[in-house]
Parts: sequence; C-alpha cells; structure tokens
Amino acid sequence: MKFLLFGVALSCAAQTIVVHADRMLDGKGRMVRNATVTIEGSKIVKIGGHAKANYDLKGMTLMPGWIDTHTHPTWHFDENGRFFQGRERPEESMRYAAENAKATLLAGFTTIQSLGALVDGPLRDSIDSGEREGPRIFTSLRQINERSGDPEKLREIVRQLKKDGADVVKLFATASIRDGGKQTMTTEQIDATCGEAKAQGLRAVVHAHAADGARAAILAGCTGIEHGTMLDDATLDLMRKKGVFFDPNFLVLHNYIDNKPKYLGIGNYNDEGFAYMEKALPLVSDVLRRARAHHVMIVFGTDAVAGSHGRNFEEFIYRVKDGGDKPMDAIVSATSMAARSLRMGDKIGTIAQGFEADLVAVEGNPLEDITAVRKVAFVMKGGKVVKH
Ligand SMILES: [Zn+2]
Repeated sequence: MKFLLFGVALSCAAQTIVVHADRMLDGKGRMVRNATVTIEGSKIVKIGGHAKANYDLKGMTLMPGWIDTHTHPTWHFDENGRFFQGRERPEESMRYAAENAKATLLAGFTTIQSLGALVDGPLRDSIDSGEREGPRIFTSLRQINERSGDPEKLREIVRQLKKDGADVVKLFATASIRDGGKQTMTTEQIDATCGEAKAQGLRAVVHAHAADGARAAILAGCTGIEHGTMLDDATLDLMRKKGVFFDPNFLVLHNYIDNKPKYLGIGNYNDEGFAYMEKALPLVSDVLRRARAHHVMIVFGTDAVAGSHGRNFEEFIYRVKDGGDKPMDAIVSATSMAARSLRMGDKIGTIAQGFEADLVAVEGNPLEDITAVRKVAFVMKGGKVVKH
C-alpha cells in the first residue's frame, strides 16, 4: 500500500510540459520542422504528436542544451575591472564561480566542463542538489603540469583526484600559447598522468599546442586534446584512429585580445604574449579545417575565462565564420559530440525520447545565420524552465 501511494504521488509530481518550435535540431545532425517535444519530470518522453503546447516557440529553433567542454568559472575581473590573479577566500571564489556558472546557463549552456578549480566540486554538488541554479558541471578540480611531480607522485595525484570526486584529469603537456606552446611535461610525466587516469577510469584532457606534447598524450591514453593550435596532419590522423576528441578554441584568444587592457601587465599577459595570441588565430582556423578533413571528433569548448562567461555562444560564430565549420557541424560539436566526450552521450546532448530535457531555443535559424545563437530566448535544464 505504501508503495502504491508512493507511486501515485510520484506520477502526480511528474509534471508534463509540451514545447513546440518552428524548427528543431536534434543534436545529431537532423532538422525537423514544426517539432513538438513532450517532457515529463526531468526527461523527454515523446517527440511529435499534436498536444497543446505550454511553450509555443514561434520563429525559433530548438536544440539540445549546449555543452561547453572547456570553461573556468572561477576566473573573473576585480573591482577595478582588472583580471584577478592571486589568492582569495574560498567563499569569494565560490561567489564568482556561481555567478559565472549561472550566466553560462542563461546563455543556453546546460552543461559545462571546468578545467578546473577546487571550488568547482562544492559548486557542482550544490547545483545538483538544487540549492543553486546552474549548469551541470564536470570538473578536474585542479590542474597538473611539469612542476606537479615525478611520475610516481603524478600517479598518486591522479588517484587522489579520483577519491576527491574529480570527473576528469586536466594536464598541461605544453606551455601556454603566450609562451610559445612548446612541450613542457616530459613524456614520462605524461605517460604516468594519462596512464593512471585510464587505470582509474577517468578521462584525461590535455592542454597541448605543439604536436609533440599532444602526440605523447595521445599515445599515453588521454581522451581529449584542448587547443591543438599547432597539430600536424599525422597527429590529427592518430587522434582519429585512437578516438581522441579535439577541442579547438577561438573565443579564448578573441576574449583576451578584446579585453587586452584588463589583462596586460599581469603574468605572461605581456606584449609578447599578445603577439603570440594574435598569430595563433589563423592557426586555429587552419587546424579546425584540417581536423574536419581528417574526420577527427570535434567538441565545443571555449576556454571561457574572465570576460567570456555568458557569451560562450560566440564560439559558434568564430567556428563558422573563421574556421569554415558548417553551422550544423558546430551545433553537433556542442551537443551530441560534446556529450559523448563527457561519456554522457546516452543522457544529454540529443533531443530524443529518454534523454534529459535540456533544451535551448534561439530566435531565427542558426543554419542560415549563425549569429542567431546570440538570441537565446528559452532555456530548460532537466525539465525545469530557467529562461523564457
Ligand atoms: Zn583552459
């Protein structure tokens, strides 16, 4: 009897919502006109039919909630409008990270991967519990580089990350683009980090500009390459063969250049660093085109830092206008392909029966004019409307 009552209560609680849109992109490359999506509780239960819509999105294009596979929600400007770098109280970091995460959700991104900071853990958990509103968060909690330790120490760090609840391991196989992007971790260090991540069942994503650092990481069992500005064709081929995801990023470079006065003079944000970033932009266009030609699995990360949060969708426009991506390909990168890279391909990133009801709708048709991604008019996460 108790179970029966419980069952009745549950079915009453699972509210039905019907969303209708002029166009729907399912996240896997398909476009449907006059689409109707029925949601019960947090899940999509039906596509099609003639149920009366609770949300009739006229003139809009409905898509799976976007996924940004590379963000830094803790990064922010200080009260003087300058980039903040240094120590701050954890509650301060949390306040900024929560604010930035929420702005990213309202911009249509229902899932982000942060690469990564310690406060991401409690932030992720408070969003999951419903205490805060924000996107689903996957985080590396910290970052590993050439100074993190010898191979033995690195294996220990990875095991600890697993215990601490990290979703992914982030390592820097090469220098920052502002320092030229050369390999920095030794091949032994890369082997230990990627190898232990694999042994622990964790994904490992690698900051790599130069091909040698990327190659070492791919051979060591990492699952994704971030940036990849100087990857050669042989490395792209190896990535396709090994099923390694590629995440090239335009927005981060444009964001630094557009916000130059706020960064200049801090750390490696000097004139030489900015010159490297200016030079890298055509390289990103070039490597994205070559990666597409080599059929590499491409995901959608922006490397969102201070100045980018809440306008992550600008990456779509750069990828299409500068990188030669077809709008549909860029959207698949940010939906089903990104979900696959997070090992969430059967739960999010696609509009289909049984998937989480993560949805974004924009005014207009991004297949005809990619700048439509700026006009986010509707966002639903897990069946809950967060923007309309
Ligand atoms: Zn980054």
